[in-house]
Amino acid sequence: MPESKLEIIPLGGVGLFGMNMMAMRYGGEAIIIDAGMGFPEADLPGIDIVIPDFSFIDSYRDEFSAIVLTHGHEDHIGAVPFLLKEINVPVYGTHFTLALLDRKLEEHGLRDSTTVHAVEPREQVKTENFLIEWIHVSHSLTNCTAVAVTTPVGVVIHSGDFKIDETPVVGPSIDLERLTEYGDQGVLALLADSTNAERPGRTQSERAVIPALEKIFDEATGRIVISCFTSSVHRIQIVLDLARDYGRKVSLLGRSMLRNVETADSYRQLDIPDGIFINPNEARQMDEDRLLLLVAGCQGDPMSAMTKLATDQHKNLSVGEGDLVVLSARQIPGNEPAISRLMSHCYKRGARVIDNSLARIHVSGHGSQEDLKILIEATRPKFLVPIHGDHRQLYRHKEWAETLGIVEPRNIIVFENGDVLELDESHAELIATEQVGRTFIDGSYGEVEDLVVRDRKHLSYDGVVLPIVVINPTSGELESEIEVVTRGFIPEEDAGEIVVELKRIVEETVIGASHEERIDYAVIKEKIRLALKRFIQKQTGRRPMIIPVVVEV
Ligand SMILES: [Zn+2]
Repeated sequence: MPESKLEIIPLGGVGLFGMNMMAMRYGGEAIIIDAGMGFPEADLPGIDIVIPDFSFIDSYRDEFSAIVLTHGHEDHIGAVPFLLKEINVPVYGTHFTLALLDRKLEEHGLRDSTTVHAVEPREQVKTENFLIEWIHVSHSLTNCTAVAVTTPVGVVIHSGDFKIDETPVVGPSIDLERLTEYGDQGVLALLADSTNAERPGRTQSERAVIPALEKIFDEATGRIVISCFTSSVHRIQIVLDLARDYGRKVSLLGRSMLRNVETADSYRQLDIPDGIFINPNEARQMDEDRLLLLVAGCQGDPMSAMTKLATDQHKNLSVGEGDLVVLSARQIPGNEPAISRLMSHCYKRGARVIDNSLARIHVSGHGSQEDLKILIEATRPKFLVPIHGDHRQLYRHKEWAETLGIVEPRNIIVFENGDVLELDESHAELIATEQVGRTFIDGSYGEVEDLVVRDRKHLSYDGVVLPIVVINPTSGELESEIEVVTRGFIPEEDAGEIVVELKRIVEETVIGASHEERIDYAVIKEKIRLALKRFIQKQTGRRPMIIPVVVEV
């Protein structure tokens, strides 16, 4: 009888990094836990967002009753607006999670049509078949939760992203008491974060970065420039407190940094010292040893405030002699070359750069093996299902859990996106596979389709534009005439005129760029692409694929 079984189906986040999304079905009702976006690889020009494939949603469209959010990170809420366009059901999450979501709803014009319910930790929401409770956990963001879903066949606990931090900077510690109560009553399945399942020991408290940062404040004689994730609320609080203690004013740079600090402040997730902030104009006038810049862009994104600051492209300020640049974040896999270029830009301007390899200025928000053990001991589930990680991390999580002797080894189940895990009170088995995958979206939010299809459509409707520039890697000078090749973009007889214009745009962009931007090919390519995209869209209303080529001589 299918009505008597619970199905758990990961639609993202299991077997690959980011894009976390999970469905639970019982008795003709389904809920979604988190709907996050992924991170586009560098070789996907023009792709801004990656979200899960919604084929599954389409198949069970009428069954959905709720979207349940664990916390406000992009890889947990980034796909919610796209999901809401498919299924308009109420969204539940903590206040701060919903505040972070709210901006996205506004951007997508969904604010009025969406029902959101803010919940407090330990609050319960009942749907037809599910009783959902949010339980506070520690993480790099604040107001984060696990969820306990009581179903007719038993309790399923989804850990969200978590670590065990007994001394958080902002907010309470993880609610182990409540998790243990669930454990006492009996937990059917625990779905647990595997991000750090390979790391032995415990993940350190958010406070662990304070000594190294204090040393930096002690030693800095010029400006301090700190870049971290704009959602790292604990980290931002620590930096603001240190700035106050050391008599430095703080200027926030980058739109996402400003917005996140503002949102965190209005939801009392930050305690901002009085009069600490000054605007970038005031910062320019400030004595260097009394100034701290807190900047978005720790991953070296070419268009971020941090890269602009390090390449003289920021309108008010730039990195210079005597600055101490602190990258207080981990390097997301794939971003290493961009971060390395960013560091080089800073060094070349006479700044010193400190990253996590030189000092303890970053701790992870995810639990290591001993944290995982604490969660498993608290909840004592019949079945353990590793989630949030690539295959290696999921299997290492399984291997580690097997050594603990708490869950029977055959009850530790590794599944991957699309697998349907069917559970009743005593059994669990993988019964089927649903279609899953990734959907690529560019900045216009218009197109939601497979990358190959998108590329083909792009090419067949609007053609391709290839600007080719030859740049000297040392001098940054243009070494020969700019070429622009187009195919399928405009009729041949009209092409000559617009190509002249396109060459002019490319030339202006290259000449208008700084020396450092010109020799950072990722930056200059993106600048050329954006300039041409804007121009072509305005002039022709078309959106050809634009692939800048920089030739090094
Ligand atoms: Zn997270």
